[in-house]
Amino acid sequence: MAAGYKNKSQRARVLTENWMERNGYCPICGAFSIRHYAANRPVADFYCDACKSDFELKSKYSKSGKLMGKVVDGAYDTMIARITSRNNPNFFFMTYANDAVSNLLMVPNYFFVPAIIEKRKPLSDTARRAGWVGCNIQLSEIPKAGRIYMIRNRIEVDKKVVFSNCAKASRLQTSDIEGRGWLLDVLACIEKIKTDQFYLADVYAFENQLAAKYPNNKNIRAKIRQQLQLLRDRGFIEFLSRGVYRKIR
Ligand SMILES: [Zn+2]
Repeated sequence: MAAGYKNKSQRARVLTENWMERNGYCPICGAFSIRHYAANRPVADFYCDACKSDFELKSKYSKSGKLMGKVVDGAYDTMIARITSRNNPNFFFMTYANDAVSNLLMVPNYFFVPAIIEKRKPLSDTARRAGWVGCNIQLSEIPKAGRIYMIRNRIEVDKKVVFSNCAKASRLQTSDIEGRGWLLDVLACIEKIKTDQFYLADVYAFENQLAAKYPNNKNIRAKIRQQLQLLRDRGFIEFLSRGVYRKIR
C-alpha cells in the first residue's frame, strides 16, 4: 500500500490512516466505523457519519511504544484559532512500532484549551520560513479524564470501558473557553493529589501555580472552591464534610 511513496512520513501517513479506517470506530457514539475525509479537506482527517464528530489523527513512530508528553503540530496561531472555534476536531494520538499500533488514545475537543498549546521558538532569520512560529500539543497537561485510551500497551481496551470513559469526560464539556480552562486546571490539580480523599488545603497548595496561569484573577481560592462545586455537580468528586472531598472513580 505504501509502495508508491518514497518519503518516510508520507508512507507512515498512508499506513496509519488506512489502519484507522479499517480498525477504528467512533469512541463517542459507538458507531462501528469512521470515515476518511477526501484529501485536502482542512477540517480534519476522519468523521463519524452517525454523530458527526470530526477527528484528527496524529501518529508517531516510537520504538518503546510510549506516548510522548508533547506532540509537534503546525502553526501556533492557526492552532489557537482552531481550538477556540466551534468546530475544532477531536484528536486521536497513536504510536506504533514493528508494524503494530502500540497506543491509541482519543482526546475530546473540549479538552483543548490555549494553556496546553506550547509556542515554539520562531524559525531563525536564515530559515526559508523565517519568523514562523510552530506549536506543541502538551499531552501531559491534559487531565487523565480527557486521555481516553482505545489501545494501551498493545492491548485493545474493552469498548464498553472506552464509551463509559467518553461519557464521563463529556460531563466536563462547557462552551465557554475561559471557564473550561479553570475546570480542567483544577481537575488536573486534583489528579495530582495521590490519595482519593483530600482536603481543601491540598487543592490550595496549587494556588501559586494557578495564579501564574491566571495573573488577572485576584481571588484564586474562591475560584478553586467554585470549580470544586462544579466538579461535584458533574460527578467527579463528592463532598464528605466541610473541606473534605473524595474522588469518584
Ligand atoms: Zn460517532
